Amino acid sequence: MRFSKAYIPTSKESPNDATLASHILLIRAGYIQSVASGLYNLLPLGKKLLENIIKIVREELDKAGCQEVELSFVTPAELWEESGRINKFGKELLRFRDRKDNLFVLGPTHEEMMVNLIRNNVTSYKQLPLNLYQIKTKFRDEARPRFGLMRAREFVMKDGYSFHSSDEDMKREFQLMEETYRKIFQRLGLDFRVVEADSGAIGGSGSKEFMVLADSGEDTLVVCPSCQYGANIETAKRAKVPEPEPVEMNFGKFYTPNLKTIEELSQFFHIDPYFFVKAVIKKAIYEDGSDEVVVFFVRGSDELEETKAINSIGALELLDTSSEELEKVGLVAGFVGFIDLPKNIRAVFDIELEDSENLITGANEVDYHYVGAKLDLPNISFADIAKVREGDMCPTCGGRLEYRKGIEVGHIFQLGTTYSEKLEANFLDQQGKSHPIVMGTYGIGVSRLISAIVEQSHDDRGIVLPKEVAPYRLNILISNIKNSDEVELGEKIYNHFQSLGVPVILDDRKERFGFKIRDAELIGFPYTLIIGKSLKNGEVEILHRKENRKEKIAIDKVIERVEELVV
Ligand code: ATP
Ligand code: MG
Repeated sequence: MRFSKAYIPTSKESPNDATLASHILLIRAGYIQSVASGLYNLLPLGKKLLENIIKIVREELDKAGCQEVELSFVTPAELWEESGRINKFGKELLRFRDRKDNLFVLGPTHEEMMVNLIRNNVTSYKQLPLNLYQIKTKFRDEARPRFGLMRAREFVMKDGYSFHSSDEDMKREFQLMEETYRKIFQRLGLDFRVVEADSGAIGGSGSKEFMVLADSGEDTLVVCPSCQYGANIETAKRAKVPEPEPVEMNFGKFYTPNLKTIEELSQFFHIDPYFFVKAVIKKAIYEDGSDEVVVFFVRGSDELEETKAINSIGALELLDTSSEELEKVGLVAGFVGFIDLPKNIRAVFDIELEDSENLITGANEVDYHYVGAKLDLPNISFADIAKVREGDMCPTCGGRLEYRKGIEVGHIFQLGTTYSEKLEANFLDQQGKSHPIVMGTYGIGVSRLISAIVEQSHDDRGIVLPKEVAPYRLNILISNIKNSDEVELGEKIYNHFQSLGVPVILDDRKERFGFKIRDAELIGFPYTLIIGKSLKNGEVEILHRKENRKEKIAIDKVIERVEELVV
């Protein structure tokens, strides 16, 4: 490609709505263009980058025996009704009617469609296993689209689905997909971690996320520096928190005027927050549209982990409650506790409160707390609902857990038979007995990877791309287009690498050197061959973008040296 003919609209200006480096740089360097909230156009550089990522994804999946298909983006709403997900997905599903008034959904993920694809064809164990994938546009009407391609409404996902005649076989494939994903993200040059993930309401027994480590990541990971343990905070575990110095408490009701927070109470009683019981009150919304007020009890030294809380009661989401709502169900804001809790209120206790005594808890009465309380109510429902803190002990080795920030770029999931049961995708085993097909599902955020790569790899001058994915591995920069010697050498090297099939661009624009080199740094070409003044002395320079290092090289060695770098 000749830069003078290329459509690469670079800019010095940062877009107003962008805060994240990758979002700003991808727009400034002319990779993407914003259309509307969460919608982007890919310009030629962006399209090439995406295709290079797709090539790596496809190569590794095909090596692992997966087969590529392409499913319709517009999906019939009946399928979503069959699976029961039409309500669960809520407003993220974009629904519309065609001219005959049939209801459709723009696919946000394709479990239903993929089960539908195989359900009438795959009927025998002999046709299993099967692993099908596609690389395709998805649409989710995200509540808060942001950060450019990172959280867009229209985006490209690789979504794969595997079908098996047994749980063991599905787990074998899950393992294979984990290895395959590791290879993909390694080839993309990413620094990532594989962590345990929330399996959510979809069910299934196990799921793992692939997280690109970046301070700007939206996910919090809990990792152990001493062993391999890593988990999304939504599902992270810890060894039970040891009890601080025990305190002597006699049971009694205490006047605690206006003391509502754990901090205030802890100061008032001179007792460690560990011994307090914190009530977190939420309004739970369920799939069928019903709602109720639920009280989650955790230790005063802990916070509620919302995803765990949602899973503990099988809710769709948790909302904050107003003081009117609390009053209506007989709760006293700031003084809610487990003794004398109104009978009809659903309560969930953190598992670490089991068999606890010496607790301080609200008295369900304005300005009063109970001290020295024991948790010995009948029929208590316990669940792991506390957020793992930094410094808590690793559940596997006892090391001190740390937080990291990550960008979720992949998610693999042991799905089981949830969808095949609902959509009646069955197979006959060797004895002719019918069973639902066992499934796994595997996603990669392909367009999000563009943001993740740039997020992890940039500096104050611009983007730094590894050559495996760079739209052009080599940029040949002719410093002064009026100098015929420079032009001649540039053209010669350009033709050479073109004939080798190396993606190369020739900066033949009538611009000043400074302007061109700034563009090269902004765009992030891995290598820029600068043909300039030193040509008189028989030398050119190679700019190594990643190291920001210039290497002088004699003209007769240049092709050989550049080949070493870019081929
Ligand atoms: P997130 O938690 O980030 O919303 P998710 O868990 O809803 O993602 P999955 O359903 O697991 O996403 O989808 C598979 C992959 O698709 C994710 O791992 C992520 O990389 C990508 N992805 C999901 N939502 C978006 C989006 N709005 N924009 C870009 N990529 C996305
Ligand atoms: Mg996910």
